[in-house]
Amino acid sequence: MPASLDLHDFEQILSCSPNAIIVRDADDPDRPILFANRAFCDLTGYSAGEVLGQGVAFLQRHVAASGNAAALDEMREAMATGRPTRVVLQCSRKDGSLFWNEVSLYSVNHAPSGRRLVVKSQRDVTARVELEHDIRASTQAHRKRAALKAADMRQALEQLYDEIVERKRVEQELRSTEQKFRSVIENAVEGIYRSTPDGRYLDANPALARMYGYSSPEEMLADVASIEREIYVDPAMRQQFRSLIERDGIVRNLEYEVRRRDGSAIWICENARAIRSRGGRIVAYEGMIQDVTERRTAQTAAIRLERQLLQAHKMEALGTLAGGIAHDFNNILGAITGFAEMGRDDARDRGIPPDNLDQVIAAARRGREIVRQILMFSRADANQRTVLAVPPILSEVVSFLAVAVPATISLALECEGEEQHIVADGTQIQQVLLNLGTNAMHAMKARGGVLRIGSRGVDLREGDDELPPGRYVRIHVADTGHGMTPEVMRRIFEPFFTTKPVGEGTGLGLSVAHGIVQAHGGALRVSSEPGRGTEFAVFLPATPTPAAPRTCTTEGCVADS
Ligand code: ADP
Ligand code: MG
Repeated sequence: MPASLDLHDFEQILSCSPNAIIVRDADDPDRPILFANRAFCDLTGYSAGEVLGQGVAFLQRHVAASGNAAALDEMREAMATGRPTRVVLQCSRKDGSLFWNEVSLYSVNHAPSGRRLVVKSQRDVTARVELEHDIRASTQAHRKRAALKAADMRQALEQLYDEIVERKRVEQELRSTEQKFRSVIENAVEGIYRSTPDGRYLDANPALARMYGYSSPEEMLADVASIEREIYVDPAMRQQFRSLIERDGIVRNLEYEVRRRDGSAIWICENARAIRSRGGRIVAYEGMIQDVTERRTAQTAAIRLERQLLQAHKMEALGTLAGGIAHDFNNILGAITGFAEMGRDDARDRGIPPDNLDQVIAAARRGREIVRQILMFSRADANQRTVLAVPPILSEVVSFLAVAVPATISLALECEGEEQHIVADGTQIQQVLLNLGTNAMHAMKARGGVLRIGSRGVDLREGDDELPPGRYVRIHVADTGHGMTPEVMRRIFEPFFTTKPVGEGTGLGLSVAHGIVQAHGGALRVSSEPGRGTEFAVFLPATPTPAAPRTCTTEGCVADS
């Protein structure tokens, strides 16, 4: 190993270094380059000859114009103070291309000359710097993205917050609207409800509860277990309602009768709709109900009046017709009876049995009886009337009937009170009662029974009957016979309506009775139940008991002088 290394040895060592090394004279103000190794020439593109002796200006030319201020300051200070440093700055090569240069700078003292030297060891760190740049850039981008993301998030949060606030506001508005609607429903005049399809109330307003006779909706909800059984008068109507709402989803103006809590019935008009689940299944009904009892009652009264009017017209037409033909008919029947009687006498004289002629005579007599009724019917109010006590007329009728009554039927006469006078045609009133009595006996023919005939005075008040209010004598003819169905009852006053076999009934008895009673300012009422019996009630205006016998016509009563 040599005792010491000379400059040449150092030069050789430095030449082999992979770092670019230059040595400058720090004591010379221009700091000329005293030494440059091969790596320096490789790095910068200059030959050693080109750089040796070059000063500050040369070096400065190769430092990039921008971005190096801090590094240059640092180097300048290190150079002045001799403190070692390391900086990275961008420099240019001979061909002008740029590279990042890591410069380590330190001073050494040159013992032989006593001068201070600066050694600059340099490395191309472009790859590292660029990588750092890239990393920094991508970190920045990442940060930026993250920041953006955060901003987005903040914005989204703000939106969400706004939405929540808005939803809260809408909810509150809805709640207050709902409250308003609640109060509309609570105070509505119409009944409003919601029910399950199988017939339980889920909700109802006070108007409906009131309409159905409950003190509150709560009470109604608790009490009504089945709408079909407890509300509908006719359960078949509920079926109709359900099939309509299931088919159309809606029911409009359906009118039917419902039962109130106290058992009374009212007519209602309903509009309802079905509420369906998302799957289309009906989960509830919602409806609005109006009480239309008043209108329905008025309608029924109008229909009844119309029917009565029609009946009156029919009777009038029949009266006119009957009046016109009955006389001719009576004469024809008279001739038939007369000649048949003569024929019968002849037959007897010749010893031939007169059975067939007896039949002719019997039929003709029946015919004359019918004609007699028709004639009476057509001149109902043309007769003279007198003040009559009713009970004696009744006893007379009962004694007439007693002759014909079979043993299976018992007769009862029931007269109450004394003051039972009417202004009437006695024969006609008898005719009425005989017709009613005959019908009653006919109804009891098969099984027997009791026939009650009687009378009493009654006071009719406004609304009791369609008759004007006042004092009436009410005569009843009641039997315990087969009774009538509603269909028969509707038609019994029609002329020629009969349920009896041909030859037994004419269908005139009740029309005649009806006509006579009406002509007397009274009315004929009937109530009947199939299998239980029938009661006819004849109402005739009562008149005060006369002080003296008087003759009455339709124009009024005149005391007999
Ligand atoms: P007719 O007696 O000739 O049938 P009416 O006018 O007297 O004619 O009676 C008409 C119908 O009214 C009868 O056919 C019968 O069906 C019914 N009717 C009348 N009175 C009674 C009664 N007391 N019981 C049951 N049905 C009756
Ligand atoms: Mg009859």
